[in-house]
Amino acid sequence: MTESGNNAAAPDVSAPPAVPETRRMDCDVLVVGAGPAGLAAACAAAESGARVVVLDQSPWAGGQIWRGEESAPGGSQQRAWRRRFRESGARLCLRTTALAAPRRNVLLAEAPDGPLEIDWRSLVLATGARELFLPFPGWTLPGVLGPGGLHAMARSGWPVAGRKVVVAGSGPLLLAAAHGLKAHGARIRLIAEQAPWRRLLGFGASLGRHPGKLLQGLSLGSGLWGAPYRAGAWPVRAQGADRLESVTLTTGARSWTEPCDYLACAFHLEPNLELPLLLGCRVEEDRVRVDSFQETSVVGVFCAGEPTGIGGADCALAEGEIAGLAAAERRDQAKALFGRRAAWTRFRDSLRVAFALRPELRLITTPETIVCRCEDVTRRDMESQDHWRAAKLQARCGMGACQGRVCGAAARFLFGWEREGTRPPVFPASVGSLAGLPHTNPTVRPNPQGCP
Ligand SMILES: Cc1cc2nc3c(=O)[nH]c(=O)nc-3n(C[C@H](O)[C@H](O)[C@H](O)COP(=O)(O)OP(=O)(O)OC[C@H]3O[C@@H](n4cnc5c(N)ncnc54)[C@H](O)[C@@H]3O)c2cc1C
Repeated sequence: MTESGNNAAAPDVSAPPAVPETRRMDCDVLVVGAGPAGLAAACAAAESGARVVVLDQSPWAGGQIWRGEESAPGGSQQRAWRRRFRESGARLCLRTTALAAPRRNVLLAEAPDGPLEIDWRSLVLATGARELFLPFPGWTLPGVLGPGGLHAMARSGWPVAGRKVVVAGSGPLLLAAAHGLKAHGARIRLIAEQAPWRRLLGFGASLGRHPGKLLQGLSLGSGLWGAPYRAGAWPVRAQGADRLESVTLTTGARSWTEPCDYLACAFHLEPNLELPLLLGCRVEEDRVRVDSFQETSVVGVFCAGEPTGIGGADCALAEGEIAGLAAAERRDQAKALFGRRAAWTRFRDSLRVAFALRPELRLITTPETIVCRCEDVTRRDMESQDHWRAAKLQARCGMGACQGRVCGAAARFLFGWEREGTRPPVFPASVGSLAGLPHTNPTVRPNPQGCP
């Protein structure tokens, strides 16, 4: 008899759970990521006659910057790309996460209705970037978020009107997020950029070559009129009983405390390299190495946008179009776009120099600070290890829900550890989706031309 008292047969708990059937699909060009880079790649490839499938784990197309809203930054530009994408004939699969590469030229993804295997002839990786968080005392308090994250929440209706916000860390996203938060009624108490004025002025001068970016910067600046801005300043401690109440910042020479309801803090962006690494693509200096056609060190695998270096949406669009054309075997047409891309890669190089992280930021993490917030691992727990794998095995750092996406980058910065390879699945997934996964990676075919 069952617990409910009727005589229905009890379920057979010894039987293995039903494994959902894996659907199959094939295409000429598979694009992972529907941000600016992925959309541009998909348009270029589909317009060349290729059968194109685009996957994105989000419920929307448009990536981080456009997030599926017409009101997001770059209004008319994104509307034009969305229209072009709709008319291109590329097939879009949303809420679909690429997890693994079970065989050569096959990607396994988790879709809303179960596992999906896609055969591809060319693959474009346009997986974007995430915010880089560095741990400091109090960074896990409720009220401490990434600037992009808090801005996205405000755009989705989270009330920030009248709330006191300190925006801190590094990168142009600080200004974009502060501007957006102010437009939603937040009171910006301070914008603190860790880079010194000297580097910021050099970056400003380089914008002369990019009048569009210069105008964008001036418009953000004028929209933030009245909001205090400090270069060469960074947070060292967040305070509060149950949630954030204030943040202490320093210039190195002087420290002070700002009362606030939110601290929006991230130290620029961290490229999403898990999938390129899994596929065997060569990664150097935190970016995927590509040749002039955006092809990686693996034949038939192209990469565009933030994983090749943090360069913003225009750089991602330029690289995406070249990758899409080359993936669809239209290399001659792709060559015509090299000049436009060169301008944006120069901008990307200027960003890298201007917003390089200062070494003092390694000191904001004290021995008691939690570095891995999924598994509560402190800096002290990690200090005795000499590489990431040891920290994982001995201290459980990176073994929690985020699988090292947050603490992995922080540990590399804090301890100077090398980036290590990735194992499938690259995102947490249901057992059903992983049932058919082999234990080893497929062999990759190195690109004979090689990357520069
Ligand atoms: C949180 C955040 C907020 C930002 N806000 C702004 C802003 O307000 N203004 C601004 O100018 N710039 C902003 N940026 C920077 C901007 O997003 C990038 O410069 C630009 O979008 C780069 O385009 P991309 O196509 O390379 O990457 P993204 O736009 O990041 O697109 C990558 C896409 O790949 C998808 N993806 C990744 N891995 C997988 C996988 N395994 N399977 C399926 N899908 C996958 C992601 O869901 C994402 O949609 C923001 C960045 C971040 C991280």
